[in-house]
Amino acid sequence: MIQPPAELDGLVRLSRALGERSADYAILAEGNTSARTGEDSFLLKASGVSLADASTDSFVEMSLSAVLALLEASPRDDEELGQALLACRLGDGPRPSVEATLHAIGLTLGGANVVGHTHPTAINAILCSERPELIVAGPLFPDQIVVCGQHPLLVPYFDPGVPLAAEVSARLGEHIERHGRSPKTIYLQNHGFVALGQSSTEILQITQMAVKAARILHGTLAAGGPRPLTSHAAARIDSRPDEHHRQAQLRALDDRR
Ligand SMILES: [Zn+2]
Repeated sequence: MIQPPAELDGLVRLSRALGERSADYAILAEGNTSARTGEDSFLLKASGVSLADASTDSFVEMSLSAVLALLEASPRDDEELGQALLACRLGDGPRPSVEATLHAIGLTLGGANVVGHTHPTAINAILCSERPELIVAGPLFPDQIVVCGQHPLLVPYFDPGVPLAAEVSARLGEHIERHGRSPKTIYLQNHGFVALGQSSTEILQITQMAVKAARILHGTLAAGGPRPLTSHAAARIDSRPDEHHRQAQLRALDDRR
């Protein structure tokens, strides 16, 4: 029998935590997770599986290069994309999520080892509003910067699947050129949230903090609107040695799990 990849257990735990009903990050079959397992391989949540009920059977191992090639091939419709994604599997496995290309970009261009995509109500309330740009208008408090980074990315609405992934890829490239590194958070207008991280625990921490920041943003809208940290203050938090120490502590928390 083939040994399952070591990353599988962490991915199951992460998926169940992201699907926790009380957290309200995803319901039913919303959201998906992935983790890199090798030079050209990654695990991806299967289509139609609920995050809350994820088990070791809920994931399928895929070829990164084959999935990325779909960006060039541009399948004509959902049927053709579904068939093409089945052909990208390494061995047997369930039908992969239609967001496979989005995950493959996060795991390559985005520099992540793990990707978590959810539809949190607190975040979507802003992303589905008249002013979605408020969510990236500047960090509101120091811990938001420590966990979620200083520079989030907002992507306009595109059809889920290859069109969305192609747009994320283009905007991610521009973002990396401008800021010198990948964002930890990507906000998809009228759709949801993507966390890019190095471990399953980091993905959960980023998602939790981004949701907290969105809730605070809601509160500010009832009190005259948000007043973000100045870019000087935000850059200072990003570069402070004690904040780097806190980031290291968060990673250590991760290693103990
Ligand atoms: Zn989605």
